[in-house]
Amino acid sequence: MKVNYHTHTTRCMHARGIDEEYVKSAIKGGFDILGFSDHTPWKYDSDFVAHMRMPMSQLSEYLDSIRSLREKYKDQIKILVGLECEYYECYHENLKKLIEDNQLDYVIFGNHYNKTDEIRDYFGFTKDEAKLNEYVDSSIKGMESGVYAYFAHPDLYMNIYGEFDELARSAAHKICSTAKRLDMILEYNLGGVRYGAKGRECGYPCDDFWKVAAEYKNKAIVGVDAHDNTDLEDKELFDEAVAYLESLGLEVVNEIPLRRYE
Ligand SMILES: [Zn+2]
Ligand SMILES: [Zn+2]
Repeated sequence: MKVNYHTHTTRCMHARGIDEEYVKSAIKGGFDILGFSDHTPWKYDSDFVAHMRMPMSQLSEYLDSIRSLREKYKDQIKILVGLECEYYECYHENLKKLIEDNQLDYVIFGNHYNKTDEIRDYFGFTKDEAKLNEYVDSSIKGMESGVYAYFAHPDLYMNIYGEFDELARSAAHKICSTAKRLDMILEYNLGGVRYGAKGRECGYPCDDFWKVAAEYKNKAIVGVDAHDNTDLEDKELFDEAVAYLESLGLEVVNEIPLRRYE
């Protein structure tokens, strides 16, 4: 069984390949389940226009497109439709309504921006203690909200952080212990590997973070975070990630909690 629940589309304005090409590449890559999780649109209180996510006006077209592909390819691959969403406290009720109204199969938690992207404070550029604390606090609140099927790139804060120092370690402990308490799956993100974020000092995915996850025996999942359909064809990268997590003694899961609607 091979699964990926982290897939983008061109609607986010920083991905390549039409929807159907992602499906074809996933079949080529040997996936049994392909979940689409493009960056969620938000209805902002301000007139802010985001440049890394679809506008709200495209949401129904996105859902229709993926659902028609689900039908077309149902004998070859199982397709699910979701979104990758931030935890924005101020808009969280709106998010819950959006999920219900559109009957999404799941959403994953991508904690990229502090408070709301309207203030453009990216957590991947986390250099100071106050901001790291904001990242940890919002990560915990997001996990506790019960909305998300899993936590994508929980170690994003290591993007340019540098050495895995005591603060970084303490953040990892807080995130991993919370995930354990809530039975929240943590994602090992192949996007970070592809962009060359891994291997920077430390970058993400961060080996030291995953060693902490291993101490807590967290559930892990590999997310392709496909922004190009051919990302799904890279079998070697995927298999290496699974082998790495298993070498740490982590349980790599294939199933995530899916939403059901009557
Ligand atoms: Zn993206
Ligand atoms: Zn993503």
